[in-house]
Amino acid sequence: MNLVFLGPPGAGKGTQAEVVCKHFDLKHISTGDLLREVVKNKSLMGEKVKEFMDKGLLVPDEIVVQIVSEEIKKNRKGFVLDGFPRNLAQAEFLNNSLSSLNICLDRVLNFVTSPEKIIERLSGRRICPKCQAIYHIKNMPPLKEGICDKCGSSLLQRDDDKEETIRERLKVYTQLSQPLIEYYRKKGILVDVNGDLEVQVLFEVIKGILQS
Ligand SMILES: [Zn+2]
Repeated sequence: MNLVFLGPPGAGKGTQAEVVCKHFDLKHISTGDLLREVVKNKSLMGEKVKEFMDKGLLVPDEIVVQIVSEEIKKNRKGFVLDGFPRNLAQAEFLNNSLSSLNICLDRVLNFVTSPEKIIERLSGRRICPKCQAIYHIKNMPPLKEGICDKCGSSLLQRDDDKEETIRERLKVYTQLSQPLIEYYRKKGILVDVNGDLEVQVLFEVIKGILQS
């Protein structure tokens, strides 16, 4: 089974990808993790990717597609692509690359969430600058407000998790993802899922979709 999970940051697709991969014995391919891994490998490709990341630039589509395709080729199980493709160009690249490997996508799950829910999830996040522990003021609060349980440092909110930044990212996401969603809808493999649901409830829904 080969799947793509689409959705804005904070829609819970990473968490579902993990649970789904464990249940169905699939490989979780998260582009963010994959790119960080490639950089660590110090290969020619790693150097190239590092240059873009160091400058704070997005890694170009062709490079990301190449790295993702390599990972798919290496892997004999099915997969869940999480955080990729991000735009129509990447989807078309991916399509060509998969057909040349004789692999097809079975389903694309589109995580639909309300902006308010995403803001609640992300803006409540606090991180420890010293030991990198992650908390959530509502879902996973530290024992003492604003203080890391593990090392006693003062917790911070990342700039990425501030409400204005989240709203801006959501706007960009919506613009880029509309053509992508249409592309997969036309292929008849797109299914919308409600990303506002609790993790376990949503997993049951997804299991139902994948088993049908
Ligand atoms: Zn800490």
